[in-house]
Amino acid sequence: MSDLNIKPFSMFFDLKTGLSREQQPTRRTLSNMKGMYADAAAFEAALKANDELVYEFYELKLPETPGDLLFGSSIVYPGKVGNEYFMTKGHFHAILDTSEVYYCLSGKGYMLMESPEGDWDAKPMTPGEAVYVPKRYAHRSINTGNERLVTFFVFRADAGHDYGTIEANGYRKLIVEKDGEPVIVNNPRWK
Ligand code: MN
Repeated sequence: MSDLNIKPFSMFFDLKTGLSREQQPTRRTLSNMKGMYADAAAFEAALKANDELVYEFYELKLPETPGDLLFGSSIVYPGKVGNEYFMTKGHFHAILDTSEVYYCLSGKGYMLMESPEGDWDAKPMTPGEAVYVPKRYAHRSINTGNERLVTFFVFRADAGHDYGTIEANGYRKLIVEKDGEPVIVNNPRWK
């Protein structure tokens, strides 16, 4: 047994705000989301008006060792850039063949997933819904409601994060508001 082994622990986990009493969040405002929304003009206008908080997440600060798990919570705020809903950047795992589970605690939205091979899916997230993100699938949370979208997640501790692929290429699909409802459309800027 090395000192790197994680000892048994438990911690407070609030069903509305996740790990907010235990950890400081990582915050992403509009200025962190440059290039991620399809409507670049709407993005620039929104950013100029207010560098709004788009989402935040709380992660365990534990070693990323094979065989361990990490968990945390994510909060996506309600809002839109043009007609595209507030969302997380989305990422692949650096170790592509690792999966993840998200459990929706509150709010309303979608988990948008796509594989490098081009398969994609969008699973609704409402309180009580558990979404399985298979290995190889990039994943992004999208808030299509008027309240905060709060989720709990758990994944293999050594999976790592690849944000760069999505930052460079975008997602194949977008979820936008049309006539007051979320609809899935092709991303005109997908590379
Ligand atoms: Mn992940």
